[in-house]
Amino acid sequence: MVVFKKAAGLGPLQAPTEPGTWRRWVHGPAGVETVSIRCPRCLRAIALPLHKVLGTGQITPSIVCPHDGCGFHEHGLLEGWP
Ligand SMILES: [Zn+2]
Repeated sequence: MVVFKKAAGLGPLQAPTEPGTWRRWVHGPAGVETVSIRCPRCLRAIALPLHKVLGTGQITPSIVCPHDGCGFHEHGLLEGWP
């Protein structure tokens, strides 16, 4: 389980900038609000429009980083959710 800290101070179209952080994020031209995290392994942003966040902040299902060559695959918890 990886605990992601809440990022702050960014506009709605910005993904989190610090590795291992999360924030609400507006995804794509349709403006869907989702959660974005910054991968702690490859340091790239990951949008999670198909995941659910439970009341405890736990993300389900587990997070698989989509970026080539990364391989990050962990259960995630959003600290400070919502
Ligand atoms: Zn990654």
